[in-house]
Amino acid sequence: MNSVNPLLEILTSDRAHRYRAVVRGAVDRTADRLAAVTTPTTDTPAPVLRERVAAVDLDRPLGSAEAAVAEVDALVTAETVWFHDPGYLAHLNCPVAVPAVAAEAVLAAVNPSVDTWDQSRIGTEVERRVVSWVTETIGFTAGDGVFTSGGTQSNLHALLLARQAATTDGRRPTALDDLVVFATASSHFSVRKSAMLLGLPERAVVDVATDTAGRMLPDALAHAIAEARRAGRASMAVVATAGTTDRGCIDPLEPIADVCDLEDVWLHVDAAYGCGLLVSPTRRHLLDGIERARSVTADFHKSFFQPVSSSALLVRDPVDLRRASWHADYLNPEDADEPNQVDKSLQTTRRFDALKLWTTLRASGAPAIGRAFDAVLDVTEQVHDHVRRHPGLVLLAPTQLSTVLFRWQPDGVSDAEADALVAPLRATLLAEGRVLIAKTVVDGRPASKLTLLNPETTAEQVVASLDHVVATAERLHEAHARSTETTGATR
Ligand SMILES: *Cc1c(COP(=O)(O)O)cnc(C)c1O
Repeated sequence: MNSVNPLLEILTSDRAHRYRAVVRGAVDRTADRLAAVTTPTTDTPAPVLRERVAAVDLDRPLGSAEAAVAEVDALVTAETVWFHDPGYLAHLNCPVAVPAVAAEAVLAAVNPSVDTWDQSRIGTEVERRVVSWVTETIGFTAGDGVFTSGGTQSNLHALLLARQAATTDGRRPTALDDLVVFATASSHFSVRKSAMLLGLPERAVVDVATDTAGRMLPDALAHAIAEARRAGRASMAVVATAGTTDRGCIDPLEPIADVCDLEDVWLHVDAAYGCGLLVSPTRRHLLDGIERARSVTADFHKSFFQPVSSSALLVRDPVDLRRASWHADYLNPEDADEPNQVDKSLQTTRRFDALKLWTTLRASGAPAIGRAFDAVLDVTEQVHDHVRRHPGLVLLAPTQLSTVLFRWQPDGVSDAEADALVAPLRATLLAEGRVLIAKTVVDGRPASKLTLLNPETTAEQVVASLDHVVATAERLHEAHARSTETTGATR
């Protein structure tokens, strides 16, 4: 091979041997890295990462796939964030199921696109089957749905369908300016972002009052809908969250569905985080009422242990999905009798992510997924108890899922000092790479946050990580106290 002017190796039947060699090489390198992981990431300073990437000359190729893969291994894989490491406690990223990773490898080589039937006949059938399995699990009697890139797109899609229903169904057309979406302050930021993308005014999203855990109060919802009606505005949708991103709390679905039925308002349940409960052997009841939603968001790349991306928008009535259908002569003509998934999606070319969940279900079945999510929730309960009893930590909020909201604040440390420590504590831990945590705001004050999503991480391991968090907080606090003393003394 000429390294000055190398050839682009296209994956063809003739290059099956190259595919085998190059991808096996990549898998071997990655498996070696995986086997050697001892921390969720490295302590390489951020400027060094930036310099290393900047130093690569994208206009001077290395000349072979093997060389490029070796460079990726050293430059990227060596520095990645590993979500399966017990010290990874930051965001809603899950460790992934092995069968799904194998399916991903198949997808990478086969490269299907589930848009039109003629591009993915078997893929279409498999996606449809997985979607029916999910809608049955939700409890829809004849639902439908489509895989999406994530909860953000699923929520956007749901609200688009709700907007179409509100502006075109029966009654006189409604102006976008008059539409109202009811959510809560704890609902995902993609709800507001979707409203903006859908051309709704800023005032369109109304925060319904919540209980102290951040769960929507159904009476307050009924009141807010009545108020909007009196003001001449039209209720477009209610977004109930089944697992709020920060608190991991579930809005009371049954009473919210009662209000929505009575008022004839579209109920969307954002179960991006809580969807794992659908298959939980012990906690399925937490989602009672979800089957009364008109649309549901489920992120399999959170609580179903699937690789990014894997999410779906599910609807109770298949007709609703047609509200955003669009037709093109060259792709999916209106009179087509083939089942074109593109009719149901916001995307055109689209990944066949359903194969990953399919493969996982075929390998170990839904109860195994549910037990894994249950294990996470059991450990979270133990961690909550630990934090509650810990003299240096304050537990800030309850959870129904797997977050831990807390603050380091032993006796003698003021609110202001504790608040000021939250951001540097997270940043210091990230720079060290041993224990990764997140931060947020709870009731107006900065808070530290753990998100547990690894079924193999034990309570003892989380406690050990928390010990490191506490030791780091103490060190930062002392260093800060010393530095203010010094400044005081020199003044
Ligand atoms: C994560 C999350 C989303 C967004 O999902 P992405 O897959 O990150 O786009 C939406 N809603 C809730 C409640 C979430 O936790």
